[in-house]
Amino acid sequence: MKDILGENDRIAATVHERLAARGVFVLNLLGSPGSGKTTLLEKTMAALKDEMKMAVIEGDLFTSKDADRIARHGVPVIQINTSGGCHLDAPMVEKALAALPTAGLDLLVIENVGNLVCPAEFALGEDAKAVVLSVTEGNDKPMKYPLIFKESALTILNKIDLVSYTDFDVAAAQEDIGTIHPGAMVLPLSARTGEGMAAWLDWLRARVRERRGAAR
Ligand code: MG
Ligand code: ZN
Repeated sequence: MKDILGENDRIAATVHERLAARGVFVLNLLGSPGSGKTTLLEKTMAALKDEMKMAVIEGDLFTSKDADRIARHGVPVIQINTSGGCHLDAPMVEKALAALPTAGLDLLVIENVGNLVCPAEFALGEDAKAVVLSVTEGNDKPMKYPLIFKESALTILNKIDLVSYTDFDVAAAQEDIGTIHPGAMVLPLSARTGEGMAAWLDWLRARVRERRGAAR
């Protein structure tokens, strides 16, 4: 396992170096199946496509359903099918990048396989990880799957429009995430209704600006 991770990290570092030199901010987007990762991405593309150049790598076990949804927004998208594999790794991303033009690109989002466990262990060459946790999943998840919250700079608390129909305790989740990862940001939002989306879009804009500045 150590050897596999060592080789993965070496390739991830190469991917990161190459994209950072071109001023591309790379986000590894994590979360359970059904947490709303693809819906969040669709709304994000619709909001930002006139102000920055985006591309998406879609990780899925099978099918190109999510890649098809992204492609409808006119954003370049590469599908990676893991054929049952439960996470993406850096070699898969390196291979996908060969088919993705990165010149002039501002933002690359890699939607990982829906899974709260091992995707957290594999660096893909990203600048940051963000995890989508929907309120319908329950606020015990950070403490049950701490690594992914420890690794993620940002937790998106999605489906906040539904919170009154659930027992989800936003304050408790925020406290748990703060314990696991002091200083991590938590943004409650609803990708479906648009509530809270502005803060997420501003977070992305700031990261893209930083990366562009650093590349110059
Ligand atoms: Mg998806
Ligand atoms: Zn896995």
